[in-house]
Amino acid sequence: MQSLSYLTLDKDVRQVRPAELEAFAAQVSGGVIGMADAAYEEARKVWNGMVDRRPALIARCMNDADVQAAVRFAAAHQMLLSVRGGGHHIAGNAVAEGGLMIDMSGMRGVSVDADRRTARVEPGALLSDFDREAQAHGLAVPLGINSTTGVAGLTLGGGFGWLTRRYGLTIDNLLGVKIVTADGQLRTASAQSEPELFWAVRGGGGNFGVVTSFEFQLHPVGPEVYSGLVVYPFSQAQKVLRAWRDFTEKAPDELSVWTVMRQAPPLPFLPESVHGKEVVIFAIVWCGELAKGEQAVAPVLKFGEPVGSALGPTPYAGFQTAFDPLLAPGARNYWKSNNFDRMSDAAIDMLIENVGKLPGPACEIFVAQLGGAMARVKPDATAFVGRDARYIMNVHGRWTDPADDDKVRNWARAVFQQAAPHATASGYVNFLTEDEAGRVADSYGANYPRLRAAKRRFDPDNLFRMNLNIAPAQGG
Ligand SMILES: Cc1cc2nc3c(=O)[nH]c(=O)nc-3n(C[C@H](O)[C@H](O)[C@H](O)COP(=O)(O)OP(=O)(O)OC[C@H]3O[C@@H](n4cnc5c(N)ncnc54)[C@H](O)[C@@H]3O)c2cc1C
Repeated sequence: MQSLSYLTLDKDVRQVRPAELEAFAAQVSGGVIGMADAAYEEARKVWNGMVDRRPALIARCMNDADVQAAVRFAAAHQMLLSVRGGGHHIAGNAVAEGGLMIDMSGMRGVSVDADRRTARVEPGALLSDFDREAQAHGLAVPLGINSTTGVAGLTLGGGFGWLTRRYGLTIDNLLGVKIVTADGQLRTASAQSEPELFWAVRGGGGNFGVVTSFEFQLHPVGPEVYSGLVVYPFSQAQKVLRAWRDFTEKAPDELSVWTVMRQAPPLPFLPESVHGKEVVIFAIVWCGELAKGEQAVAPVLKFGEPVGSALGPTPYAGFQTAFDPLLAPGARNYWKSNNFDRMSDAAIDMLIENVGKLPGPACEIFVAQLGGAMARVKPDATAFVGRDARYIMNVHGRWTDPADDDKVRNWARAVFQQAAPHATASGYVNFLTEDEAGRVADSYGANYPRLRAAKRRFDPDNLFRMNLNIAPAQGG
């Protein structure tokens, strides 16, 4: 082995001696990968094709001890450190340029205790891994809408999806974690053990350590839910979006109706004349009693005159993959996101105006309907503060040609600017881009000082800084 050049936490260049490197490699049971290794190129890839970073070293961790060894090695060398769960975060913080990347993709186990309705989930598990194992017992926890997303990053930032209005955020169903903190200690954080750390990891992202195991409370769901899509032509946008807003303000917790505004994909139930034209899509999940689904969803078909619809009982795990084809990895992506406590007429008009200017066929604006159980948890009960977000808008700039970088990013930024007067101050850290470090404090609002104090206690040197970073509190 040769000595290794790497970047420190302060971005200075330093070297690790071969003997130290060999000793570290021997401690990581999944092995370490360097730039010369065949597996390196694949291992450094993440979902967002814009992210092209080259870590000095990748540690393939397979268990708690591997993670402890990697954290201690990075701390001892002051090495820039990142943690990769499912690799989906838009900002690409999973990959440390010139540093050490802890790669969890070898730890994808999910173990369900059907009697207790709980699950232990390893930090490399994807949503599809979790849904598959839980649904084998007719159980589920609220997760996101794209099955290749990592459970780890999604959970640590909050986590919402089709079940959130009924069962809360993903973190509202978290019973505890095993976590390696910056001092290399493996701790259990739960309501009973290290409660402050448990408070902080529920929304505080990867700021407090490396989670090696999550334990969740599950709920009976499906196996079929009444779900599907209703599509309206863009000419009816104002009427149907106002009807959606009025309907969703009073909808029961079992029902979630999200809207996606984009050029219509060639879905089999849409006439060819609509393909490639702007449309308003309502994506719907009723997770209550299956027999009551048709009636609960019926009003969505009456918002206007739909151009197509596909609704009915669908396997829950299947609907969890419904959006995968539109969100495949590798494309260039830039997102901007705002939270709304209500959708005013002016906010709806702003959405319509900007969907009229989509800069490419894969670009879209989606608005998730939240509220329900998520909103009934107090904002200071967990680190996640944005409980008042009844709607979260995500502007998806998505394209393939680097020549379009500025065009798409400028569009997304303009939508964000125009949305801001209608939105709340809070944001969702799981949707913030690499240039939005300035939004972190607002995203945590009144919880930010407490998070900074917890950061000082558990990571005073800010070893875990490749994230939407919470600066350790100073002094005292
Ligand atoms: C296509 C797509 C769809 C999405 N849909 C939703 C959705 O419906 N709902 C929703 O809530 N979010 C959604 N998200 C956002 C998603 O929650 C975040 O991107 C999340 O960070 C993904 O987690 P990951 O493990 O895949 O990401 P990674 O990029 O691997 O990790 C993100 C960050 O999390 C931290 N981290 C990861 N693993 C660990 C660990 N074991 N210990 C400590 N820190 C860790 C690190 O700081 C890392 O930089 C979506 C994202 C994409 C790209």
